[in-house]
Amino acid sequence: MTNYSDICIVGAGIGGLTCATRLINAGLGQQLRIKVFDLNGFVGGRIQSRKIDEEVAELGAARYSPQLHPHFQELMQDSGLPHAVYPFTDVVSQEREQQELKETLLSLQPMVKEHPQESFLDFLSQYLGAAEASRILNATGYDALQLPIVTAAMAYDIIKKHPETQNCTENAGNEWRYATDGYGHLLGQLQRQALAAGVEFRLEHRLLSMEQSGADHLLTFSHKGEVQMQRARHVILAMPPTAMAGLNLDFPAAWSPFQYDSLPLFKGFLTFEKSWFQCLGLSDKMLMANNPLRKIYFKSDKYLLFYTDSQSALYWRDSVEQGEEIYLERVRRHLEEALPLMGKPLPPIQSHFYKHWPHGVEFYLEPEAKHPTALVHPSGIIACSDAYTSHCGWMEGSLTSARHACQLLQERYQRRPEEAGDDDTLATPVAESA
Ligand SMILES: Cc1cc2nc3c(=O)[nH]c(=O)nc-3n(C[C@H](O)[C@H](O)[C@H](O)COP(=O)(O)OP(=O)(O)OC[C@H]3O[C@@H](n4cnc5c(N)ncnc54)[C@H](O)[C@@H]3O)c2cc1C
Repeated sequence: MTNYSDICIVGAGIGGLTCATRLINAGLGQQLRIKVFDLNGFVGGRIQSRKIDEEVAELGAARYSPQLHPHFQELMQDSGLPHAVYPFTDVVSQEREQQELKETLLSLQPMVKEHPQESFLDFLSQYLGAAEASRILNATGYDALQLPIVTAAMAYDIIKKHPETQNCTENAGNEWRYATDGYGHLLGQLQRQALAAGVEFRLEHRLLSMEQSGADHLLTFSHKGEVQMQRARHVILAMPPTAMAGLNLDFPAAWSPFQYDSLPLFKGFLTFEKSWFQCLGLSDKMLMANNPLRKIYFKSDKYLLFYTDSQSALYWRDSVEQGEEIYLERVRRHLEEALPLMGKPLPPIQSHFYKHWPHGVEFYLEPEAKHPTALVHPSGIIACSDAYTSHCGWMEGSLTSARHACQLLQERYQRRPEEAGDDDTLATPVAESA
């Protein structure tokens, strides 16, 4: 097994897999040795699909909008994989909050441009008073909208680009879809395509550090407790900013004038012995809860899912850290508060699982400024992530950034060798054995 590659891609999420398939489709796979590394034992990163009784359960990315996410829509169409209407744009609320939310947001929208720097919370408080502002914010189901870094303009943009909240804006027309068999099949398809073209995958390899060595890069990985060295002519790091910051590459200072941040996300899944929520007319509906469950989705008659961010995600992380019993006791209590159970206890939970993502969404600060779609280190290493795009937090952003990273790399190979500073062969001979 050689430890040399012409192109080394680190990160086998949808961004890294897209880089691999784009490069082979551009014809580079025939001439060059391409390797993909990931610290996990599986591909997909923040996309992880499971099945509950033949019904897909996505632990990470779940839905896309053909209007807002055209590149992802094209990828789904080309894959030939089944997809269907994502049902959760229809919000059920026990109170009048949803209607009030819509009326308030529409009435305050013309004032947004007068408050370019103000947080959304301060903006709402100015017009509605602090208590009402906080009530309205809760009704959106997204805790992140309360953060001081979220301006009123950003908040309106987020609200109109999420399926659960778009109905509160004039943007209600966007369609939303999901992969009925799970995005895992899409990732599998991309990986098989890359493997068939000779791309090598090295899973359970965590990149620890990198050094420059002449025209090459030396990458140090840990693999099952052992240190492994890899040499590569070109490197694409298809990983989010928090992972970049863990390397010895002076991120972000040596890469970009921007600062980055992230938010935690948490999804809890529950199945029940009886599909009681179907009888309550909740199947394929979403309920907005005024407690840490925030958004509760009822998937056909199969399972219930709650999805939270920021403060509520931390609440659930702390709950699971205190043990399963405490976690489930809180889930039950908050479900009983939120659901129209007429004073009856919640039916017995049959099974459950959850996923906490400490850095579920990553983004650059100063969203009004234009961020490069991919980053380049002075040593030539290229980095891509949805966090570098206006579609941060969406698969669409990963695709656009990965495509740009590939374009930068292809340009190097297309340049005349003397300009590129490379030797006069496109492919470097395979060297060194590990
Ligand atoms: C809960 C949740 C819900 C979401 N919902 C949606 C949605 O509905 N629709 C949508 O479009 N998007 C959604 N997203 C966002 C979407 O999942 C991401 O935008 C996308 O998956 C990011 O892909 P990526 O390849 O850029 O990064 P990632 O998926 O994060 O992949 C990066 C890869 O790099 C690997 N890695 C990191 N560090 C190292 C290292 N040192 N060495 C080796 N490997 C390393 C990681 O293991 C990972 O596999 C959601 C995300 C989460 C977490």
